[in-house]
Amino acid sequence: MPQLEARRGSGTARRLLFADEPDPRALQGVFVALFALDLTLRSVGGSGFQVSSWPAVGAVLALLALVAAWLVPWSRTPWWAVGILPVVDLAALGLSRLDSLSSGAGVLAVVPALWLGRQFGRRGAATAVAAAAVLLVTPGLLYFGVDGITLSRSLLVSVAVGWSALAIATALERVRAGWDEAERGRAELAAALETIEHQRRMADAILDTVDVGLVLLDGKGSYEAMNRRHQAFMRLGYPDGHAGQAGQLGHVYAEDGVTPLSREEMPTHRASLGEEFDDFRLWIGHDPRTSRAVSVSARSVRDERGAITGAALAYNDVTDFMRALRVKDEFVASVSHELRTPLTSISGYVSLLLEREDLPAEVVSQLGVVERNTDRLRRLVADLLQTAAVDEGPMHVVRTRADVSALVRESVRAAVPQAEAAQIEVEVDVPDSLCALVDRQRMAQVVDNLVSNALKYTPAGGHVRIHLGVDGDRLELAVTDTGIGIEAADRSRLFTRFFRARQAEERSIQGVGLGLSITRAIVESHGGRIEVDSEIGRGSTFRVRIPLDAERETLSS
Ligand code: ADP
Repeated sequence: MPQLEARRGSGTARRLLFADEPDPRALQGVFVALFALDLTLRSVGGSGFQVSSWPAVGAVLALLALVAAWLVPWSRTPWWAVGILPVVDLAALGLSRLDSLSSGAGVLAVVPALWLGRQFGRRGAATAVAAAAVLLVTPGLLYFGVDGITLSRSLLVSVAVGWSALAIATALERVRAGWDEAERGRAELAAALETIEHQRRMADAILDTVDVGLVLLDGKGSYEAMNRRHQAFMRLGYPDGHAGQAGQLGHVYAEDGVTPLSREEMPTHRASLGEEFDDFRLWIGHDPRTSRAVSVSARSVRDERGAITGAALAYNDVTDFMRALRVKDEFVASVSHELRTPLTSISGYVSLLLEREDLPAEVVSQLGVVERNTDRLRRLVADLLQTAAVDEGPMHVVRTRADVSALVRESVRAAVPQAEAAQIEVEVDVPDSLCALVDRQRMAQVVDNLVSNALKYTPAGGHVRIHLGVDGDRLELAVTDTGIGIEAADRSRLFTRFFRARQAEERSIQGVGLGLSITRAIVESHGGRIEVDSEIGRGSTFRVRIPLDAERETLSS
């Protein structure tokens, strides 16, 4: 962490300048040097320095202290022992002032005073003041006698010694307190950084362990992070590299595995615009042997004010599922195909038999049962084939102008026997004529499916209403029943192949779950939509809306 290193650097400087244990050799050396300078200047200045004088004794004392500073192993002496050196220095200064001419040596007292204050704090300052009084001031007073000048010099030297020792002691106290505080802060910061780093490594390990590709986009759609699984998907989809921006085109295909996705369809692009979605299926990779199918979910990331600051996407590998689905569809399509020919033959021969007039009544009724069941089987096979065809591309519709009213009435008429058998009242509310451009056969299939479902899922004594009309610029067909209803949770999946609602399953009502998916495909191929409104136990309304074009004919009621 570079920031921490920088701070440690300043710590080294601090140790050099303010070490808790200053080097007595250096300090004593400085003092002796200044002391020698004073003596030298005094003799050069002609003050008549003599070897036998008191200042000379002071110089010897200071030198002895210097020798002691070098020879004594201070680390092994008691903590206070080193304090003897500055005290001796003060005594040396006291002796050096015992000279007939005044000298500036008194100022040098600041050096041992600073040393004492710095090394022993307030106690050192007190020692400095006491030593100055005894060793520096008293000899002077004894030597020169008490007069105004001597008193003034003594007082000022004592004040200077005490002041400087106390000043450095308190300043260092404060600085140390500040450093301790900073040290604690730094230790806490380092601990917090270590925790964050640990958590980041844990999160990375977890993200790389899951078998789901994960991507994090920032607010501008740039890739912020991705796990190892997604890096593998990226290599498949973008063998030539990726610029790290959402929406880049590559070997990414729609659910059919062949149609390349446009930028607007790319999940990262949609997510970067704040869209949230689930189970968006696509194929990654151009080589069918290595390509993977994934189901993508996206969620927005928001700040505390709710503004979008990014998006998270999860890519779930569903290749095996998609391949199994494809195999199943191919199987269903081929089996249905094989069933169609024998069924056509059975139904043809049954019709021929029923045309005969010499058959006993009992046989005719039994053949009727065979005919109805053959019809059911044929419808089922047709539904299965149609479902497989929907998979292969959009449904092909041939739109011609047709009277939808007549078409609805015909469908309802065909359903009357079923309604009567089920004791359900059927109400038809359609205009006399309503012409529109539709595929007649397919539209008839829509009405058949909705009406037969309404009758199938409505208990005896119920009511079914079929309404046809125009709503704005759309044709509207609504089939309402008073049947068993559909749970809210099932409604979104109602139009998926082979889906059957819980209510239908529980009541063992026959069906395979294909009618509504085919109905939706037909409605959508006409540019329309189908919706359902339902309440459990009260009934359902299936509403189909198809845009009418300019060629719409008159509506007469
Ligand atoms: P099927 O009727 O053959 O099961 P569909 O695709 O026509 O298949 O319908 C799918 C499911 O929707 C049904 O199984 C049933 O659960 C539910 N459903 C359809 N129409 C109605 C209705 N009118 N009332 C209640 N449930 C219905």
